[in-house]
Formats: sequence, C-alpha cells, structure tokens
Amino acid sequence: MSEVTPPITLGTGLLPSAETLFGHLADAVYLIDPETSNIVWGNRKAWESLGMGREDVLGHSVLSLQKDVHGLPHWSEIAAAIYGTDCFRFVGRHRHQAGHEVEVEVNTTHFSLAGHSYFLSVARDITNRVAQSDDLQRREKQLWFALNEASDGLWDWEVPTGRLFFSPQLKRMLGYGPDEMAPVLETWSHSLHPDDAPAVMAALQGHMQGKRARYEAEYRLRNRNGHYLWVHDRGRVCERCPDGQPIRVVGMVQDISERKQLELRLQEYASCDPLTGLGNRREGMVFLQAQAELCQRMGVSLGLAFIDVDHFKSVNDGFGHLVGDEVLRQVGQTVREAVRSSDMVCRWGGEEFIVIAPNTNLEEIELVAEKVRLAVFEALSGHQPKVTVSVGVAAATGKAIDLNGLMSDADSALYRAKENGRNQVASALSAPSA
Ligand code: GH3
Ligand code: MG
Ligand code: MG
Repeated sequence: MSEVTPPITLGTGLLPSAETLFGHLADAVYLIDPETSNIVWGNRKAWESLGMGREDVLGHSVLSLQKDVHGLPHWSEIAAAIYGTDCFRFVGRHRHQAGHEVEVEVNTTHFSLAGHSYFLSVARDITNRVAQSDDLQRREKQLWFALNEASDGLWDWEVPTGRLFFSPQLKRMLGYGPDEMAPVLETWSHSLHPDDAPAVMAALQGHMQGKRARYEAEYRLRNRNGHYLWVHDRGRVCERCPDGQPIRVVGMVQDISERKQLELRLQEYASCDPLTGLGNRREGMVFLQAQAELCQRMGVSLGLAFIDVDHFKSVNDGFGHLVGDEVLRQVGQTVREAVRSSDMVCRWGGEEFIVIAPNTNLEEIELVAEKVRLAVFEALSGHQPKVTVSVGVAAATGKAIDLNGLMSDADSALYRAKENGRNQVASALSAPSA
C-alpha cells in the first residue's frame, strides 16, 4: 500500500507550494498584479518557454511578453474584461527571445488572497495546433479551388433551411455571374425542365429517404437565356441528424449537352429517313409492335395503310432522280399533314409509305386513306410530273393481333388498288379474298 498523500496547505506558504505544484507543468503560469500588470510569480515554463531567464520575467509587466498588446490603457481594458468573467480566454502571440513568435492560448482567472487581487494566467503553446488548422484551411481552399476549376459545378444544400450554395463554375455553366442565382432550393427546382422534374425529384427523395445509396439523374436545366442544357447530376447526403433526417447534401453537376446531342443524333439516324425526315422502316416496325400490344390490351382496332406512288419509275425516267427525290419529299410531307399527329407515317422503302393508326377500325382507316390519296392528288397531280398514289388498307382487333397477317392484308389490298387502275384506295375486307 502506498502512503496517503499529505494535504497541501496554501496560505502563507503559497510561493514554495506553488513552485512545487506548478514547477513541472507543461504550460506557463503567471501570477499578475492587476494594478500594474507586473508578473509577481511564474513557474519555470513561464520564462523557459520564451527562451528567457527568471529575472527577464519576474517583476516585469506581462505586456512585455505580448506581441499585440501595447500600453497601460490597453491593459486596463483587458483587466476589466478579466474581472468581468470567470475565465478570460484569448489567443495571442508571445515574443521568444530568439526573435520568433509563439502562438499561445491564455486562460486568465482572478482571485483575492490576503486582501490582494491577483490574476492567474495559464499560457499554452498552440503553435502546432495553429499550424495544423492553417494547413487544413489551406487544403480546404485548395480543394474548393480545384473542384471549382474542374468542369463540374458544385452544389451544397442545407436541408433544414433550404439554402442551396451554387459554385461559381455551376453559375458560369448556366450563364450567370458570381453574384446571381439566389442561394435557395427553388432557384434550382424552377430551372428543371418540367418533363424531367418528376423523375429527378423521385431520384432525390429516394436517396434522402435512404432507399438509394446516392442521388443521380440526367435532366435538362434552363440557363440564363432560357435554353436547356443537358446535365448529369449526382450527390450524396453528407450529414444526418441522429434520427436519420438529412441535414446536408452535396453534389456535382456536369454539362453533358454535347454527348446528349450526339446520342440524340445517332438515335435519329437509326430511326429517321434522311430524305423525307419521316421515321424509317425500323422505326415503323418498333411503333407497329408497341401499338399492336397497346391496342390488344385496350381492346381497340389498329389500322394500317400501305401507300405506293403510281408509276414512279417514269418520274425518275422522265425528270431525273433529283426531281424524283423532291417528289418523294413532297409526298411524305403531304401524307404527314393529312393524318392525325397520333398516327405514325413512315417511309417503308423506295416510293412506299405506311400510316399506322392506333384505335382506328377498317372503316376509319379507309377514310384516312382516301384523305391521303386526295391530298396527294390535289397537291401533286396538277403540274408536271403528275403524281398520284394507290393505297391498300387493313385493320385488326382482338386478343392477339397478328401483325404479319395485318401487313399482308394491307399489301394485298394495295396490289388490288394497282390492278384496278391506281390512284385509288382498296380495303382488305371490302374485296373478296379470291
Ligand atoms: P407502280 O405504279 O406499279 O408502283 O410503278 P412504279 O414505277 O412506281 O414501281 P416500281 O417499283 O417499278 O418503281 C419504283 C421506282 O422508285 C424504282 C426506283 O428507282 C425508284 N426509287 C426508289 N427509291 C428512290 C429514291 O430514293 N429516289 C428516287 N428518285 N427514286 C427512287
Ligand atoms: Mg413500289
Ligand atoms: Mg410505285
């Protein structure tokens, strides 16, 4: 068993006891006379930490240690502040004998003893701490700089307040200056393309509610001129309340307009006929299959019309291919304008077009076809080269629409229209299937 430590009695033996207690302390301790600012006692660290001798410190004003405090008037202000609080804390700089400065955090308390007031200051060297925090700040600045200069724009959303910080690069991307774009959520949400907004909001909510590991969306964002940019946006909740509610979400926005335009152009090439601008045969087949399924489910008819330009070979032969091309463009345009926008018109190949008309029965597709035939006749048969079209129509309804049967019916009807003299409509069921 170790001996019980004897109690230390402070009082008349204050100085020797204080020496014993504080002599080996890692922090510098100063006992100060509040009136004069003179140091009346200090521990070893009080002078050693500043490269001084005992005699350089004891009996001298505490102001002589300080880099930033000058003159007694300043001291009386400090003294008043020390009296006004239980513990007065400040971060300052002490002068080291070697000429450099020492960053210190000083905690000062006041007390009375034997009818005298004293200040007791404990000064801790925080050089390393300051260096670390400087380093951190410098690195944070570098990080922000690097992220801002990257092609991506940054955002930082404070969820409870609705404040949304936009980085200068993000503002630049949208054509705004650094002082524009109010830092609130609505600035962003009101710039979303209305067609994209529901999916974007669902993706964001999904992540915030913890259903998705991160938020990611591709959408159109309106710029300062009112045009839309395609952007790729991704973000993550980086701070949550203890109950899981998100507090802060940060993310990056990348302008992908170029890539998106290329994608759309490729898609267009794959689905569009370059001569007429109408959908091509591939696009027609995709639409036909999708509409067959839809009409089946809805229990409605799907109408189909095959259109073929009459004696087109003689147009080419008589007027040349360039005129032939122009005729095809005009026929395509005329057919497109003659039908409903929900019907699809495609260039099926050569001088053949089709109209796919969802929710249209045989009688109705016959009427559509007659309208088309007449429109072409009126637009293109009045001058050279005279152009007319023949049209074959069919329609299908039922639990399982047979697309091959439907197309073959329309094709047979077209053949009959040609046989019967061209510039006319023939219907699959209106003729005997001899
Ligand atoms: P029919 O009334 O029986 O349909 O006779 P037609 O001359 O229209 O039919 P045919 O199939 O004999 O000829 C079609 C012509 O269409 C042959 C082909 O050179 C031409 N053609 C196909 N595609 C194009 C094109 O893109 N541009 C031009 N100028 N001609 C084309
Ligand atoms: Mg043909
Ligand atoms: Mg033809």
